[in-house]
Amino acid sequence: MSRDPRYDILFEPVRIGPVTTKNRFYQVPHCNGMGYRDPTAQAAMRAIKADGGWGVVCTEQVEIHPTGDIGPFIELRNWSDQDVPALARIAEAIHARGALAGLQLAHNGMNAPNLTSREIPFGPTDLPVFSIFNDPVQARAMDKADIKALRHWHRAAALRAKRAEYDLTYVYAGKLFGGAMFFLSRRFNDRTDEYGGSLENRCRLLKELIEDTKDAVGDTMAVACRISVDELMGEEGIHAAEARDIIGHLAELPDLWDLTLSSWDNDSQTSRFAEEAYQEPFVTGIKRLTTKPVVGVGRFTSPDTMVRMVRQGILDLIGAARPSIADPYLPKKIEEGRPEDIRECIGCNICVSGDHTMSPIRCTQNPSMGEEWRRGWHPEAIRARETEAKVLVIGAGPAGLEAAMMLGRRGYEVALAEATRHLGGRLVAERRLPGLAAWGRVVDYRLGQIEKTANVSVYRESPLSAEDVLGFGFDHVVIATGARWRRDGVGRRLQKPIPVAPGARVMNPDDLLAGLRPESGPVVIFDDDHYYMGGVLAELLAREGREVALVTPSGEASSWMEMTMEQHRVQARLLEIGVTIVPHRLVTAVAADHVTLACVYTGRTEPRPAATTVMVTARLPENVLAKALEARRPEWADAGLASVTVIGDALAPGTIAAAVWSGRRYAEELDAPPRGLDDLPFLREVAELAAGPLPWRAGA
Ligand code: ADP
Ligand code: SF4
Repeated sequence: MSRDPRYDILFEPVRIGPVTTKNRFYQVPHCNGMGYRDPTAQAAMRAIKADGGWGVVCTEQVEIHPTGDIGPFIELRNWSDQDVPALARIAEAIHARGALAGLQLAHNGMNAPNLTSREIPFGPTDLPVFSIFNDPVQARAMDKADIKALRHWHRAAALRAKRAEYDLTYVYAGKLFGGAMFFLSRRFNDRTDEYGGSLENRCRLLKELIEDTKDAVGDTMAVACRISVDELMGEEGIHAAEARDIIGHLAELPDLWDLTLSSWDNDSQTSRFAEEAYQEPFVTGIKRLTTKPVVGVGRFTSPDTMVRMVRQGILDLIGAARPSIADPYLPKKIEEGRPEDIRECIGCNICVSGDHTMSPIRCTQNPSMGEEWRRGWHPEAIRARETEAKVLVIGAGPAGLEAAMMLGRRGYEVALAEATRHLGGRLVAERRLPGLAAWGRVVDYRLGQIEKTANVSVYRESPLSAEDVLGFGFDHVVIATGARWRRDGVGRRLQKPIPVAPGARVMNPDDLLAGLRPESGPVVIFDDDHYYMGGVLAELLAREGREVALVTPSGEASSWMEMTMEQHRVQARLLEIGVTIVPHRLVTAVAADHVTLACVYTGRTEPRPAATTVMVTARLPENVLAKALEARRPEWADAGLASVTVIGDALAPGTIAAAVWSGRRYAEELDAPPRGLDDLPFLREVAELAAGPLPWRAGA
């Protein structure tokens, strides 16, 4: 198939300073939790994107010096020549698949607590560092020698990027990560010298850094400037008009403008809070300020939206981080005339949680993300089957769908049996919850692929028993029967059931997802799960006009959503729609008309009116079938059954991303050579030991 001519414009080359990208698909810099610790894993991940057709593939922000160290977060480093081989490996991998390689130089300035280096952070002004954990670290105001040193380090790092053979590099002044942004900002910069005050003065450091970088490497490398077009905080922050003045002032200096919202949580909003192309109002018109190409993001997954961005003169290059994570082959699928095969990002920010937990990136839609090197997984391809085995997958939730799809891709004959009429498991109902519609893409993509796979048959309304399974004659059985929510309050904080008085009404999320509703009167949601379910159900019930209190032992609603950068938005939304958030409290007893709350610090108790209590605490695996089959293990051989494997929530309830990953793992490992107990499940890169003795002799 060839591409729809409507999309031709996306495949036009674009000149960026001294280099030319083959198309308009531009993977903007994005963190990945691998960085300096896992450079080869990162090289493989970026190479796959290049293979998937992205014209430009960038690294994440790369630290240029120990004075700008944002540990404990794991990014690449470009501190010295020692780092060049790792950086070069990534560029080489990107080049080998035909894309331009970009390296985002970054000195994080007042964002960097310097926990590793213990250097004193610096910025325009004496102020506490603007770091995620509110570290008790202050930055000092830079003097002229510091500015000179910073320019020197930036230049040196650009030269190392050139030696590592990158095509494009950055001066970073965005998202409150790039240190130059603190100089641009009126709230952070109260200097009275030529680097503070007027817009021209506040731009001076950024201007010098761009000029230095162009001077150092601009003959062969493009120099981009990543800048914030709004901080979404009104006059106090860098706002739209001011950003336009800044860009207008520096208009022709960089070879490319890379536009972001600040801070990161505004730039990478989730689908619960923002639609595709939500940055459009902020980037429209920027192109009129400069003749240089402009790249912007917007969780673009629709080629029509991308075309509109270019045709309407809003963007020259279609920037993507998350859409390229969810589907590294997005450009190729458009090019090959099969956009319906795009695995669209669902906007859940599980990818961001990898960076925030300092662990390798993961993605709900793309289970191979972060596994390209260490497990050898590929987002599209999987090795052909080794045997003629027939596989029965039971349960069509995220785990079962992924397993069936990928086993089908390997060529196995697969039957997917689902108890209900609906395919999608937990997502059948969860996608109807407020703000979660886009999560349904997890199901839609897999069903679309399964429909095209002749060797996968789907059986709805097929609740299977052990008897059924043993009668069918499959070689392998995969149990993906999911989980159900507990009703007894047992969870993270309480390991024993909460006493419930006779006549008290207790519900769980499964009841609400099935369409049941509390009777009239106040509702208490006890959220000891801390991810989205408690907050979303509070929103659902409040929007239906009920009086809702969200009780949590945590300090805030949906506290784990700090990791997806949504917590503050969840909290704001709940407060705006009238949900009472009751922090630091446990529900310790439920009576007919009230619950007893206990303070997590003092243990002091108090009653709170509640006609219905909804327990959002933990789930239990739905493992009846697995246990029944295990009990009949002696009959397996006669039934021709070689293995029964439990995956996804049926093994241990977790995120949708974990369930999808579990399905993929099964498909990857079926018929693979057995792994010994001592074999590690994946490759790892171990730091080379430094030569030489330890500094102190024993007894010194
Ligand atoms: P996961 O997240 O692990 O994929 P889900 O809870 O989303 O799990 O999906 C599990 C699916 O399994 C549900 O659609 C459920 O109806 C189905 N299921 C549960 N038990 C059986 C069974 N015995 N036979 C067939 N399907 C089942
Ligand atoms: Fe998109 Fe979620 Fe994957 Fe991130 S984890 S790329 S937001 S689907």
